[in-house]
Order: sequence, then structure tokens, then C-alpha cells
Amino acid sequence: MVTGYDEIGKNIADLKASPNINDYKSEVASWSWENIWNELDTPNGLINQAHECIDRHADGDRAQKLAMIWNSSNGIVEEYTFADLKKETNIVANAFRKAGINKGDRVFFLSDRIPELYFGVFGTLKLGAIAAPLFSAFGPEPIKERVQRADGKVIVTTPKLLAKVNEIRSELPSLESVIVIDTRDDEPIADEDLAWSELCEGMSENFTIESTGAEDWSIMHFTSGTTGLPKGAAHVHNTVVSHYATGKYVLDFQEDDIYWCTADPGWVTGTSYGMFAPWSNGVTQVIDEGGFGANRWYEIIQKFNVTVWYTAPTAIRLLMKAGAERARRYDLSTLRYVMSVGEPLNPEGVVWGLEAFDLPIHDNWWQTETGAIMIANYPILPIRPGSMGKPFPGVYPAIIDDEGTEIEEPMVEGQLAVRPGWPSMFRTYWNDQERYDSRFKNGWYLTGDKAKKDADGYFWFVGRDDDVINTAGHLVSPFEVESALIEHQAVAEAGVIGKPDDLAMEVVKAFITLNENFDESPELLRDINNHCRTRLGPAVAPRDIEVIEILPKTRSGKIMRRLLKARELGLPEGDTSTLEDD
Ligand code: ATP
Ligand code: MG
Repeated sequence: MVTGYDEIGKNIADLKASPNINDYKSEVASWSWENIWNELDTPNGLINQAHECIDRHADGDRAQKLAMIWNSSNGIVEEYTFADLKKETNIVANAFRKAGINKGDRVFFLSDRIPELYFGVFGTLKLGAIAAPLFSAFGPEPIKERVQRADGKVIVTTPKLLAKVNEIRSELPSLESVIVIDTRDDEPIADEDLAWSELCEGMSENFTIESTGAEDWSIMHFTSGTTGLPKGAAHVHNTVVSHYATGKYVLDFQEDDIYWCTADPGWVTGTSYGMFAPWSNGVTQVIDEGGFGANRWYEIIQKFNVTVWYTAPTAIRLLMKAGAERARRYDLSTLRYVMSVGEPLNPEGVVWGLEAFDLPIHDNWWQTETGAIMIANYPILPIRPGSMGKPFPGVYPAIIDDEGTEIEEPMVEGQLAVRPGWPSMFRTYWNDQERYDSRFKNGWYLTGDKAKKDADGYFWFVGRDDDVINTAGHLVSPFEVESALIEHQAVAEAGVIGKPDDLAMEVVKAFITLNENFDESPELLRDINNHCRTRLGPAVAPRDIEVIEILPKTRSGKIMRRLLKARELGLPEGDTSTLEDD
């Protein structure tokens, strides 16, 4: 990929903390998952995510250390130590047991980011039941589909969201009860529901965690639905081994960090990295109930002295739109390390971090199915803007051809695959084993993404299988075209599709949104087009550029190119359950 951006070198002396990986190569060479397992507390070979994240700290030196700093949407702050979390989750585990939840049951969560959501998920894990968090903004239909697919036994929700559950309850034969978190607002709840406060009343603060082994189910996550119907990827307790390891070596957690992950637990990043990675490392994290806002977010970093920040390209593009000067108005000097995941991070975004925070933004790649980070940029490795980075130690991603054979030659495009065997790999798509099986070939897990690898082992994202464009014999990466587009000062965001064409098979069509202070005009479009032609060459530059108000995105912030395409071609839109509200 021609990025036009220089490598960002790293010098250990310039880093704000001594990184947990000093020498990437030797870490890869000497990696052993068994050593990581031994750093956790796994008595008699048992492992439980709640024990690793909460109880082992509460029973040790970190008991009085802050685990969660909760920032409510109206500015109330609550703080919980690891000992507090142990107590709260024990009460919930006892309460849930009383409500009839047993090992293996599916417990759905439909709640905003309030502390009880976190107590509930960990209480569920302590029981050996399966926690399945949903986006609280989901409408009744997507909730129904997901609960049906997984035969959910219980839904935990709040009075405010209960109406959505009531609409579909009669269509959920597996649903035995609805638990309503009534502790934060006093709206009335229906007679047939279990009130959280009543269930928890008088419950013991002690609880013996159910015996769970590495292969026992723990959490189920529905994929983002970027490419089609969301799939329920099911994970096991062993997954925390990867959370702990990637937290330590990619997020580079240090004992005194204040960490903030902006993702909602309705999306896998909000659990893997908004619950399990920080807490399995005993790190203090900020949880913000509110939504995106450039000022709000900078205030949070400033107010809580955030050191490590994990966010997504869509947020970074919005912050870019607000301008680096905006960031400069705040004291963000505590920030040490910034990362992004969920979509390709445009090279422009990586470099913009330097302007706004004096820190480059570190991209990393993984999926709901992989459970944890697979490819990453590390504190110590030079960054090649536009690249996802290098494999996590102990993980073997490769570029393979259609037959499932590894392509050794550098910079040849192929399917991104991973050799199975890392601890956090999903174990099935719930009630869809066939689909799960179809994701494996010739000893590889097929990710459904296209990528290439350079001679030094850096991976470069090309596009999702379905999104890669074939125009007059050239394979065009939508990401490459989008990255070139947003370099233009007028362009805020871009989504690029292939539009069927009799002659060229497909032609490149771009949808863009404009930055404030720019108005659409033929001159402006011509200028953007010229910029793309210079950067990408005429064969790859978009044939057609259309200005739109907003790009369709998933609730986790991913551009839905399939919707752009369906709308352009007047085709059915397919599953839109994860589409963000306009
Ligand atoms: P669905 O599978 O339902 O279509 P989804 O693939 O978007 O949705 P997720 O598991 O949330 O669901 O997202 C994983 C995908 O997101 C990856 O397969 C990849 O396409 C994209 N992605 C994540 N991180 C990156 C990254 N750093 N660079 C490029 N793409 C990324
Ligand atoms: Mg996917």
C-alpha cells in the first residue's frame, strides 16, 4: 500500500514507561501460553474469569485498590475497589442462584453502562452461567432474534428498557424470567418481573465460585453485523488467558495505570477490553455511562488522569473533525498510550495522534470470534501508519490463497487466516455449528478479511472479503481509497464500494461526508477527485464521488459498506439490526 507516511520510529528512552515487551523478537521466540496460565490463579486446573478478574485481587494485595471509577452520564462518580467488586458480585451470584440461574444457562443483559451491568456479568460468570450482553439501544426485534437464537433463560434489564422486552416476551418460549435493575430509577416494573433490589436483599456477601474448567462456556457475543446477520460467537473461561496476556503486552498495563476503554459491552471490545483484560491485570479502569462528545471525552481523560486509552477509528475520525486544537485545550498529559480497534485505522488517524496528543495511535486487529487481539502495534515497535502491526506472540496469522496454502511472498493479497489454538478462540457459533465448521480450512481459521504481509512481518488490511473491489482487473482495497479521501481537508469520512459495470466489472464509487466549513460544489468534487488520482492513480481513484449527510454505521461504529451498496443499487438492505440510529 502506498501510504505516503513515514515509519514512526520508537526509542525506548522516549516512552513514558518501560514497556512490558522490550524485545518483540525474543518474546515471540520464547513464548509459552503455559507460562501465562501459570501467572494466573488456577487451583487444580480450574479457571474462572470472575476469579481471575476480581476475587484473586480482592483476596490479595489489591483488595483496597480501585477497580472501577464509574462516571455517570450526569456527572456522578462512584468508586469501587476490588474488594467492593468481590462483595457486589457475590451478592448478585447468590441472588441469581435464588432466581434459578444455573451453570450453562444463557443470561442476557440489556442495560446502559451502569455498575450493576458489571456486577451482573461477573455474578453470572461466578455461577458458571453464560453472560450475553446486548447493546441497550437495540430495538425489540434484534433483542428477540438474539435471545431466541441462544435460548436465553433470563434477561437482565432496567426499568427504562423494559418496555422493549415486554413487546417480545410472548415470542420467547425459553425465557423464564426478567430481572429489572430497579436501584437507579424508580419507574414501576411489571408484576411478573423480579426486582434486582428485592433479589439482592439479605443475600450473603460470600459465594463459592462454581467449578469451571478452561473449556466451560463463559460469554457469548453477537458479531457486529457489518457483513450480514450477526452470529453468536461463544467463548469459554480459558479466554481470559488471552485477555490477560494481551492486556499486559499490547495494552501494556502498568500497576498505576488509569485505563479507559470507550467500547460498550454490547460489542466484544467492551467486555474483552472493558472488563476482562484490565481487571485480570488488576488495573483501575474508568467506565463512562455517557456517549461520544469531543469535549466530554477530553474532559474525562483530564478529570480522571487517564493513562491508557482504547478507542475506535470512528471516534478518532470524529475527534479529527473537531480539530487537534480542541484536544490541545485540555491537559491530556497523563496519556501514555492510545490504541484503536474495530475498523482499519487510516494512516492519517495514526499520525493525527501526534498532533493532538503527542502520541501516535496504535492500531490492532481482532474479531468477536478471536476473542482477543491477534495482530498489534506495540509500544516498542516502530509504527508503519496504515498497518495493523505484527502478530501477538503465540499467535500465528498468515496470508493464504484460495486452496488454503500460505503465501510466503511479501505484499501479495490473500485471505487473512489464523492457526487455531490460541486460548480465546471462539468454540462455536451458538446453534449454528455448520457455520462454525465452514470457517476452517486446511488447518486454518478463516477470518473473512483480506490482507497482505510485508517483508518485515507487518500485516496490512485490504478489506473484508465481500468489500474488495474488482475494477478492470485491479483488486482495489476500499480502505486504501477511503484513506486517500480523508486526507483531503474537506473530507471527514468516506465509504467506498464497487458498483457493477458492464465494461470494468466494477467501478469504484465513494460516499463522503464533509468537514464543517465545506460546502459541496463541482469544484470541490473535482479537487477531491484530483487528489485521489494523484495519490492512487486513475485506475483506483473513485469514478464517482457522492456527498451524503452521514455514513451508515453499526452501533460499534463500523461503516456498513453493504448498506451503501444496497442503497445505491436499490437492493434489499438485509439485516439492519445493528445499524446505528440516524
Ligand atoms: P459481522 O461478522 O457480523 O459482519 P464484524 O465482522 O464487523 O461483523 P466484529 O467481530 O465486531 O464483527 O469485527 C471484526 C472485524 O472488524 C474484522 O474481521 C475486521 O474486518 C474489522 N476490524 C477490526 N479491527 C480492525 C483493524 N484494526 N483493521 C482492519 N479491520 C479491522
Ligand atoms: Mg465478522
